[in-house]
Amino acid sequence: MGKEEIDVNKLLQTAYDYIDRNHQAMISLWKNIVSIESPSSDQQAVGRIAAHLDTYCDAMGMSRKIFSFEKAGPTFMAWTTPGSSKPVALIGHMDTVHPVGSFGSNPFLIDGDTVTGPGVLDCKGGVVAAIYTIRALKAAGYQERQLKLILSGDEEVAHALSGGEGGKIFEQETTDCAAVLNCETGIRGGDVTIRRKGGAIFVVEIEGKAAHAGKEPEKGVSAIRQAAEMILAIEQKTDFSGTTYNCGRIEGGKGANIVPDYCRFTVGIRYWTNAQYQEAEAFLRELCEHPSVTQTRCRISQNGFYPAMEPVEKTDHLLKIYQQCCLELGLPAPKGTCQGGCSDSAFVARAGIPVLCSLGVAGEGPHTLQEWAEISSLAVQCKKMIATILALPEDF
Ligand SMILES: [Zn+2]
Repeated sequence: MGKEEIDVNKLLQTAYDYIDRNHQAMISLWKNIVSIESPSSDQQAVGRIAAHLDTYCDAMGMSRKIFSFEKAGPTFMAWTTPGSSKPVALIGHMDTVHPVGSFGSNPFLIDGDTVTGPGVLDCKGGVVAAIYTIRALKAAGYQERQLKLILSGDEEVAHALSGGEGGKIFEQETTDCAAVLNCETGIRGGDVTIRRKGGAIFVVEIEGKAAHAGKEPEKGVSAIRQAAEMILAIEQKTDFSGTTYNCGRIEGGKGANIVPDYCRFTVGIRYWTNAQYQEAEAFLRELCEHPSVTQTRCRISQNGFYPAMEPVEKTDHLLKIYQQCCLELGLPAPKGTCQGGCSDSAFVARAGIPVLCSLGVAGEGPHTLQEWAEISSLAVQCKKMIATILALPEDF
C-alpha cells in the first residue's frame, strides 16, 4: 500500500466518522429546509431557503453566489477552493410541487426511520446529502478537487419561470467539472439513473375569424377546427418507443352560435435523444407555418424545456467507480437505470460531462401527499458520494 493510498483511506474514514457523528445536525438542517415550504411559484419562499443555505455555506467557508430571476426563485451556488484536479459538482433543487400547508401544521413528521413532508424526498433530503458530503470532505482535509453545490429554484416547472435560465446555469457552471452527482430523489434499493427522457412544452395559438353561426357561417374561419386537425396530425406522430406527443390542454371558442376565432392548446413532447427533440420541434414549427384550414394563423412558443439525458463517454466509467464504492460499503452494486421523468442532469450531460442521477435520499411518493423518505438512507448516500469523489482517478 503506497503512501497516497493510505492517505485516501484515512480521508475516507475521517469523512465517514464525520457523517456518523453529525446525524442529528443533518436531521436539523433537513427539518429546517423542509419547514421553509417552497413551491416553485413562491419566489420569496425559495429565496428564503437560498438565504438560509447562503449563511450555512458561508459558515462552512465556501464562496457563494445567488442568481436572481424576475419571476422564478433563485439558483444558489457555493464552492470550495480550487484543487489540483477538475472540480466535482453536487446538484439539486430547492423548490417543491406542494402548495404551502399541504402537509398540515407539522411539515416534517418523523416516525421511526420514516419522515414525511413536502420535498423531504424530492429533493431536500438530497440537498442535505450534498451539503454534508462537502462538509465531511472539508472536515477530513480533502483539497484535491473543488466541490461545487448548485441548487435550482424552479426545477419542478421545467425552469419555465426563469425562462430556461435555471437550466442553463447547470450547463454553464459544470463545463469544467470531472463529474456531476445529482442528489435528486433517490431510488429505494440504491439504483442510479444514467439516462432520462427529455421533455418540452409548446403552446400553439390559432386565430380564425368569428361569425354568426346561424346567419352567415360561411364568413367564419374556425380556429377550433384548425386546432382539431393539428392535434390529430400531432398525436399521430407518437411512437411509444421514441418520441411521444401529448396535447394535454385546450381552450377556445365562446359558444355554439359563434364560429370560434381563437383556440390555444399545449403539446408536451417526450424524447429519448436530443436528435429526436430537434426533429419534433422542426415538425411542430413546420405544421404551424402551414395551417390546413385556409385563413387561419398559428403561433407556436416554447414554455419549459429539458434536454434528454444521454450517457456521455465517461458515464460508464463513473458508474463503475460508484458501483465499486457501494460494494466496498457492503452494499449491492447499483444498476444504471433509464427513467421517463426529466431532471437537471440533462443539462450537464448535454455539455458532455458525466453525471449520475437519483443520488438523493431514498423514499417513495414524490409529488404526492404521501411523499416520504428513509432517514437512514441520508448517511448512506453521503458515504457513497464521499467514496466516489475520493475514488476518481486524478486525471478523470
Ligand atoms: Zn426533484
